[in-house]
Amino acid sequence: MTLDWNNGIRRATMRITTNNSETMAGPREWFTGAVYVDAVATPSGPSRLNASSVHFTPGARTAWHTHPNGQTIYVTEGVGLVQRRGAPIEVIRPGDRVFFEPSEDHWHGAAPTRFMTHLSLVEIDEQGNTATWGPHVRDDEYGSAPAIEKESRR
Ligand code: MN
Repeated sequence: MTLDWNNGIRRATMRITTNNSETMAGPREWFTGAVYVDAVATPSGPSRLNASSVHFTPGARTAWHTHPNGQTIYVTEGVGLVQRRGAPIEVIRPGDRVFFEPSEDHWHGAAPTRFMTHLSLVEIDEQGNTATWGPHVRDDEYGSAPAIEKESRR
């Protein structure tokens, strides 16, 4: 018998949920630049949770959009940018968490010179939707982001 974290008895084999779903490229209607999405959790039975790991290449970002039940993003890698309608662009880094209220118009993405990965946690609505998509973030909108180098010296 060997030790286990829970009950002092280790099972004969590890429990591994195999990674068998393919990375999805973010559709051009919803994103600018190259974005890749890995599924983490999908709604099943009573669960409305849709979780994914979203990988943005430098300069890539979502279009403007809203989520019917809001969204939490949690940055795991790189340096990113986020903006809600009518507010300045803000810099986000690993460990930062952002909550968007239901129907709050916003976008999120990578900084111009850095990759960024975040977890996305949303709950589907009655129709199974996770988001309503609007116009792309224009280059002049994206270009008004603060310099991430300056930001890091504050
Ligand atoms: Mn969002």
